[in-house]
Amino acid sequence: MCGIVGYIGKNQALPILLDGLKRLEYRGYDSAGVAVKTADGVFSAKAIGKIVELEKKIGEIKSPFPCPLVPRSGRRAPLLKRANTGIAHTRWATHGAPTEANAHPQTDCQGKIWLAHNGIIENYQELKTRLAAKGHKFISETDTEVIAHLLEDLYDGNLTATLIKVLKILKGTYGLAVLHRDEPNKLLAAKRGSPLVIGLADGEFIIASDAAAIIRHTKQVIYLNDGEIAEISDRDFKIFDADNNQVDKNVDQIEWDQAAAEKGGWPHFMLKEIFEQPESIANSLRGRFMAEAGRVKLGGLEGVAERIRQTNKIIIVGCGTARLAGLVGEYMMEEYAGVPTEVDYAHEFRYRKAVLDEQTALIAISQSGETADTLAAVQEAKEKGCLTLGVVNVVGSSIARETDAGVYSHSGPEIAVASTKAFTSQIAILVLFTVMFGRQRQMSLATGQRIINELIALPDKIRQVLALNDEIKRVAEKYYKFKNFAFLGRKYNHPIAFEGAIKLKEISYVHAEGFASGEMKHGPIALIDENFPSLVIAPLDSVYEKNYSSLQEIKARGGKVIAITTAGNGKIKAAADEVIYIPKTLEMLTPILVTVPLQLFAYQMAILNGRDVDKPRNLAKSVTVE
Ligand code: GLU
Repeated sequence: MCGIVGYIGKNQALPILLDGLKRLEYRGYDSAGVAVKTADGVFSAKAIGKIVELEKKIGEIKSPFPCPLVPRSGRRAPLLKRANTGIAHTRWATHGAPTEANAHPQTDCQGKIWLAHNGIIENYQELKTRLAAKGHKFISETDTEVIAHLLEDLYDGNLTATLIKVLKILKGTYGLAVLHRDEPNKLLAAKRGSPLVIGLADGEFIIASDAAAIIRHTKQVIYLNDGEIAEISDRDFKIFDADNNQVDKNVDQIEWDQAAAEKGGWPHFMLKEIFEQPESIANSLRGRFMAEAGRVKLGGLEGVAERIRQTNKIIIVGCGTARLAGLVGEYMMEEYAGVPTEVDYAHEFRYRKAVLDEQTALIAISQSGETADTLAAVQEAKEKGCLTLGVVNVVGSSIARETDAGVYSHSGPEIAVASTKAFTSQIAILVLFTVMFGRQRQMSLATGQRIINELIALPDKIRQVLALNDEIKRVAEKYYKFKNFAFLGRKYNHPIAFEGAIKLKEISYVHAEGFASGEMKHGPIALIDENFPSLVIAPLDSVYEKNYSSLQEIKARGGKVIAITTAGNGKIKAAADEVIYIPKTLEMLTPILVTVPLQLFAYQMAILNGRDVDKPRNLAKSVTVE
């Protein structure tokens, strides 16, 4: 999920690798490492934290370019100067805390095979058990390390052929850079579901997980497709498909500059992250289904399964967008698992006298895992004897450590201040919680299976919604001068009305309020006139008719309506000014699909209003103060 750089060629590898890592720093990461081939083996260094920490570890030297970085003294220095093959990594932990042992490159028992990996290996646990039984010694908690040991296990003297075999065994996603101590002049790259680019320069090749690390050296690149493997030497390269057939590839020319490359060609991180949602949701769900049994497998909760069985009340806490994901969770938990659930602002929860006991589970939601208010709520609930569970994106973060157990959302680093992909992943994780709690209680096998099947179909449906970006832009062009907006939704989409309003407020500074549709008549409808448009969320679900009435009431008062509904609902066109269609899904999953057009709408509105989308004024990404 974070960064890979690899180098082979005429120059000294280490400075190029470290420079490449720095170009990937914008993505956020928790640790870093390098491994280069020297005449007497492989030199590797790893560090927690920033690249400068890694540089300190390697040892700074005052000598000028082209060799700013070699160890200060000792016999390593001349060896490193001649080292012209290496790999490097910035890690965004998914399996195992950010420690040196867990940082990449990872290696096998003998320190011969070294690799850097982005992504998640779904079947790592079973592979690890099998390899450990054969005597392999694991020193990290990562999923990645099994790849090194599997390569060692099957190694037949040719790293390329062995890698092709190993990749067939792996389930999950990877971008990989691999080298072998004893195979001279060879660097391998492979990809499935995680990006990998090969830069072709004069007498050298740089591979990287994103063009930002390459662009300084060359603009000629080859994009690997899923399933492809590249074998690279200092003067040549060959690309194979998954069945070991050599394939011809086009060389592409990167048109972007460095700044654009960091955003993968997208104008803003927020838009990039909105468009990443098919993948981020898939990553959140990866390896967590037992589809036939209609159950989910949440490794992080296994240790507390018995306490979950005994839970008779759930309190979900979070702040901002995370709390809104919690509200969606409340509807799901009560409808499908039958567990009484309440949701609170973490900052209110910590000061109110909530009624808690050992059978209460507190679910704390936070993207960063560092939100001070949410952390304090966890501590308060622990003090009262509750079971505390985390839904956190950042592995090893404070909330992840403080809670009794939890599930990582694995949505990858989120750079834009306004949360998009982290939010939809939080909802997806709450669906998994619901299936887990539900199947222990009243939920039938068929219902469990139906939810899982719909979850599996979700990434494709998100892609269909993303295809509406131009249409949504046209809607925003009509409305961007309005100063006030109402967002309305009911039941599962009541929290999404609030989320739509938050997103619009925080990045475009346009005033927006979310309302539960049924509340309009009780006051807010007084605001409505031709200058106060409403976004009405009205998918074809159990409350559609009610939402439709609210829509009519707004129209009757001269208000403009942008409706979001389910594909096939032509009838609504006669009533609404604009209609945005989402694909059909289970009612409980509509919040994920409905959120996407609201994110795009907020984004387009912010652009049209000339705002700094990725860094809205007055806001911080992670709120670590009370
Ligand atoms: N799953 C791997 C780990 O936790 C790779 C993470 C990444 O992509 O940075 O080590």
